[in-house]
Amino acid sequence: MGIIDNAKEVVDLVKKVGDIELYRKIVELEGEIVELTRQKRSMEEQIEELRSLLNIKQQMVFKKPFYYQGDDPHPYCPKCWEADKVAVHLNGPEDMQGGPCYDCLKCRSVITNPKRKSFPTVESESSPWAK
Ligand SMILES: [Zn+2]
Repeated sequence: MGIIDNAKEVVDLVKKVGDIELYRKIVELEGEIVELTRQKRSMEEQIEELRSLLNIKQQMVFKKPFYYQGDDPHPYCPKCWEADKVAVHLNGPEDMQGGPCYDCLKCRSVITNPKRKSFPTVESESSPWAK
């Protein structure tokens, strides 16, 4: 039996006693227990979200111009990650004149590489763009 069920049982017992002031106080206390339980659940959800974000952050590797996760070969949008800490896979590559092109379906960024034939991959040790 949870704390809210226990509180309701106490409220029912106090109601039988017939003390109006005691009953009013215990109903108020029950409301506070319900509110605290709601806040606790909300905080647990926030902790879970932060744990998940921390896990993603620890695995995110920058290889200019993209971010990569572990051995996932698909790049993440650098704008979405750096500005909002939202990991969004880029769409592509589409072959455009002069090289590959990626686009982000969330922020609508388009990233092209006209000078080089390919982008760095998750396997490449250093960014070819850094040269
Ligand atoms: Zn984006």
